[in-house]
Amino acid sequence: MRNLSVVGEATEPGVYRVASMDAIVAEWEPHLRFMVLATDAASRTAVERWRAGGLQNVVHVQGDGLEEGDVVAYRPAQGKVIVLYRESDLHHTLFLTNRCNSYCLMCSQPPTSHDDSWLIGQALDVVRHVRRPPTVIGISGGEPLLVATGLRRILVAIEASWPEAAVEVLTNGRLLHDPTVVSQVFDEPPRNVRWLVPLYGHADLLHDFVVQSPGAFDETIEGLLTLQALRQPIQLRIVLVQPVIEVLEELCRFIGQNLPFVEYVALMACEPTGFALANRDLCELDLFDASTVLERASRILSRYRVPHLFMNAPLCALPRSLWPLARRSISDWKNTYADECAGCTVRSECSGLFAWHEKNWKPTSLKPVKEATQ
Ligand code: SF4
Repeated sequence: MRNLSVVGEATEPGVYRVASMDAIVAEWEPHLRFMVLATDAASRTAVERWRAGGLQNVVHVQGDGLEEGDVVAYRPAQGKVIVLYRESDLHHTLFLTNRCNSYCLMCSQPPTSHDDSWLIGQALDVVRHVRRPPTVIGISGGEPLLVATGLRRILVAIEASWPEAAVEVLTNGRLLHDPTVVSQVFDEPPRNVRWLVPLYGHADLLHDFVVQSPGAFDETIEGLLTLQALRQPIQLRIVLVQPVIEVLEELCRFIGQNLPFVEYVALMACEPTGFALANRDLCELDLFDASTVLERASRILSRYRVPHLFMNAPLCALPRSLWPLARRSISDWKNTYADECAGCTVRSECSGLFAWHEKNWKPTSLKPVKEATQ
């Protein structure tokens, strides 16, 4: 998330929509909060006059990096805003909790255990403050099913405010073995929701090792079968760390034989941050060295007619046969390219790199493509 410094006089923390001085008159609503980008003294005076007249839901700030339409959390005591939603981004996510019931080797956002139930209220505030609905909204954590009733409230709010938006819930699926959680989320089955569930092995030992949680495999499989029974679309996610690469072919065969109902499988390069740094010996690899395994895994999934694609993987990390399956998937605020990419002819189709590759590692030694592409 983008964390920006601002200067402002208002002292009320909370969620705000950023508006320009020109747009505020048309956008203002009494039940929302607005942060006006006041670039000159006249604008600041105008906002102060509104506030003195009772319009306390408008504040003014100065600072670089904010965009009109941003939805931000304002921390006046620190002189900071955190951008929770950026209209111009391709990828949007709502965070519901930082707590998790797994402890994955390569978790990019290591879980915490403190009470962060206020995040549900913040996410509901974000939904209310967004000016233009997203086409796709991700819901993430931590583990969103740990706050099942909160998740339900968010899904209802999204359906009411953004009826056309597709929702993608990133969950380990484990709690869907529990009928109470299932009824909390699915009493009224949500529309337009896809469930993104990771699976890292075709046997309990393998999956439970990667997620560092005994019993997780059985619960995840039960969760997947619950989603299937509820006719919910599922994207199965496989992060390509060393222990997973070692069993990838068997895992894909297991999926083809036992979970053929999944909508598709996403094979994802590891994000080099969080726990992946602590478990570098298991998580760092040159993806290109695994080309043969990746091609075989793709062939196995194709044989079982399971659609699949590659995410977070730069094109030069994949054999050319897999390029048609590669997608640009890294969230905008995390996405970057290296100096070597400057002259690469496939840059516009390439997912690029995670922004922290420089101080950590790249998914492969970059091999810029020089020939013309059509
Ligand atoms: S050199 Fe850069 S732009 Fe080209 S394929 Fe590799 S990562 Fe992508």
